[in-house]
Formats: sequence, C-alpha cells, structure tokens
Amino acid sequence: ARDYLERIEEGRGLNAFLDVRPEETIRQAEEADRRIAAGQATPLTGIPIAHKDIFVTKEWASTAASRMLEGYMSPFDATVVRSLKDAGMVCMGKLNCDEFAMGSGNENSAYGRVGNPWDANAVPGGSSGGSAAAVAAGLVPIATGTDTGGSIREPAAFCGITGMKPTYGRPSRLGMIAFASSLDTAGLLGQSAEDCAMVLGSMVGHDPWDSTSVDMPREDFSRDLGKSVKGLKIGVPRSWMGDGLDSEVRASIDAVLDFYRREGAEIVDIELPMAKLGVPVYYVVACAEASSNLSRFDGVRYGHRAAEYTDIGDMMKKSRDEGFGPEPKRRIMIGTYVLSHGYYDAYYLKAQKVRRLIAREFHETFRKVDAIACPVTTGTAYDFGANADPVSAYLSDLYTVPASLAGLPGVSMPCGIHSNGRPIGLQLLGEHFTEAKLLHLADAWQ
Ligand code: GLN
Repeated sequence: ARDYLERIEEGRGLNAFLDVRPEETIRQAEEADRRIAAGQATPLTGIPIAHKDIFVTKEWASTAASRMLEGYMSPFDATVVRSLKDAGMVCMGKLNCDEFAMGSGNENSAYGRVGNPWDANAVPGGSSGGSAAAVAAGLVPIATGTDTGGSIREPAAFCGITGMKPTYGRPSRLGMIAFASSLDTAGLLGQSAEDCAMVLGSMVGHDPWDSTSVDMPREDFSRDLGKSVKGLKIGVPRSWMGDGLDSEVRASIDAVLDFYRREGAEIVDIELPMAKLGVPVYYVVACAEASSNLSRFDGVRYGHRAAEYTDIGDMMKKSRDEGFGPEPKRRIMIGTYVLSHGYYDAYYLKAQKVRRLIAREFHETFRKVDAIACPVTTGTAYDFGANADPVSAYLSDLYTVPASLAGLPGVSMPCGIHSNGRPIGLQLLGEHFTEAKLLHLADAWQ
C-alpha cells in the first residue's frame, strides 16, 4: 500500500485521483495484515484497488466529479465497495471521471481533465478515465468503473488495458450515484482478463437493497482461463468493420480473429441491423433517466446550496445552476423534453420499443454464436478538445451503446498499437451471464 501511495504521488500530473487519504489506506492495509496473520485471508486480501468517484465511500469524499457534491461524505459504502472491502482489498482512494459519468473523454470533470499515460495530448477515454489512466500508469493494480453506455470499455481501449462490464443487474447499484438506472453497471478495469476474473467474483452477488439485482449462484469467473477456445463460435458484425473504421484498428481486430481461428474457434459474419439505432435510442433513454435521477440534487437534501437566494424556488434554481456543469445540464434538458407531455410517445416510448428490438436482435444472434467480437470505437484515443461538439461525441458511442441497451456483458481488451502510438482495443460481447466465457476468450488472446 505504501509503495502504491508513492506511485500515486509521483503520478499526480495525470489528475487520475480526486481523493487520497494515506492514513485510511494504511489502516485498511494493517487490517489486511492482521487478517493474513490470523489465517482469515481471501485471495484478494491486501491487494490495492481504487474506486471511480461514482461509488459512495464512507472514508473518502464522493463527488461524481461534480461541484454539486464537492466534499460530500457518504454515511455508507456502496455495496460493491463494501464487498471488496470485506474480501480484504485495500482502498487507495477515489478516481476522477466525467461529471455524473456523462462523457467519453473524461473532459467533463469539474475537477479537471485526466491525462492518458500513453500520450499527453490524448484523452484517457471516459467516463471511467481516472480508473483507466491509474491502472495503465501502474498507480493501482485494478480499479472499479461504471459502464452505462461504454464508460468501462472505451477508456480501457484508449489506455491499453482490460475492461469488464458485467451483465446489468449482476453487481449491485446501491451506492452508485445514479445516472441512468436501467443501464448503470459496475465493473472493473485491470491489467488483464485474469485480474478482472479474480476480482469480479467478490464484486457481484444479490443485493436485497437493489430491486434490479439478480439472484444468481456464486460463480468462479476464472474457471475456464487457460482452456482451449476450440469449438467456440464468434460472430463479427461485418457492417461495423467497414468504412467508418480506422484501417489499422480493422487490421488489429482481424489479427485477433485470425488467432482465434488458428486456435480452433469458428468465425462467422453476422448482421445487427437494429443496433445502428443504438445512439439515438440510448441518448433518449439515458437523458430521460438522468433528468429524473438528478432531480434529487435540489440544494435541500444533498450537496451544493447557493449562498444567496430570495425564496425556496430561487434557492433550488441557483443551487442547480451553480452545482451542475454544462453536460449534466444539457442532459437534464434533453431528458425533460423527451419525457414531457406531447413528446413522451414520440421520443421516450418509441425509444423504449426500439430498445426492445435491439435486445431481441442480440438474443437471437446469441442462439447462433457464443460471443460477438467487434471494435470499441472507430479509432484510437483522440486529442483533447477534438470531440468537443456534443453530437459528434454522442455519435462516437456507436459500438458500445447497443450492448448496454440490451444489458449484455462485455470485455474490452488491448489488441495492438496504432502507428500514432496509441493503443487499439477490441470488445467481446456475450449473452447475459456469460462473463466467464468472455474472460476466457480475452485471456486466451492475452
Ligand atoms: N459516453 C456515454 C455517455 O456519455 C457513456 C457514459 C457511460 O457509460 N457512463 O453517456
């Protein structure tokens, strides 16, 4: 823990951490030592981890990278945080991200942007950018993240590490500061699929305090690591590999597919025609839920309250105006619009119907294939400021949001380095609850 605290100090220039409290970390590490001495250790006891600042923590401030929650101390730990603490993992602090997890470049944090350890001009990806940068720079061996529409898979790809988004409902959402509740999923960013498999088992499980939490038997996600991939069938959505995709990204993905073929897997072409509607559907659904979730920040119950106001209405207006940054405000407005009387049927209801069709298309595809292999993004990490137009930023989520809408698990893994010096990623998607299979496939390549 002390060694990692030193690394975190040396890596401060990345701005990956928002809150570090060495005395708390050392206290947890000493507790881990005691457990090991008493023979009560789990395989994770004493291993450092850091949490995206979307998870609430008792000992570290929880801000969602927003001014709205500056300095906020939660009275409880998120279930995911508590489960990993119970397994003996040592918390190194809280990680920067996009404000309320809204973004793809970690340029939307109220506490400044996060650097990409590969290239000072490149974004680390978002919204779990602090998690990805910290792991890639070796400031922490593994970190939690959240993926609502790609926020684990995309930063993992941009920083050359492995990202694991489990099936929606498998990890608890209790204590995850809500963005879009029907999509928000906790997951991991680590150095390898093996590391993610080790930690995932202690992170998921039924939580009676989360009504969407699924009750599944405990599972050893490492059980298939090292086995052959022979006989597995991998589908490739050909239209995703066409024109819009950087040619070097395509070549790197093809090289991985060739590897799987040589190892005895079968590679087949698939079509996902509904998935191309993913971006508009996602931004209607996610903004609608965000506008509802963020209504709790009213200056009364949590967080920021304006210093001067005339009456309660003015207090709420000023508090929200001062507390929220531009991206949450934009989404609250879009969400309020699509939910309002007269537009609800045309936008929100229509989006829900198309969402169902996208999910059905995936489920039908998974009757024919074990997994889908596809790009994470159309290119590598972009330069700071290069994706500032909100519409182009939203459109860049085209490969990650369809799986989110269907609640599917996904792994993003590094598969090459572009001639621009930045890492290239590939994602593997699977049917609900096939995390072990995806980690197996990723591990085979790694
Ligand atoms: N980039 C997407 C968005 O801005 C995804 C965010 C996420 O997964 N948290 O909404």
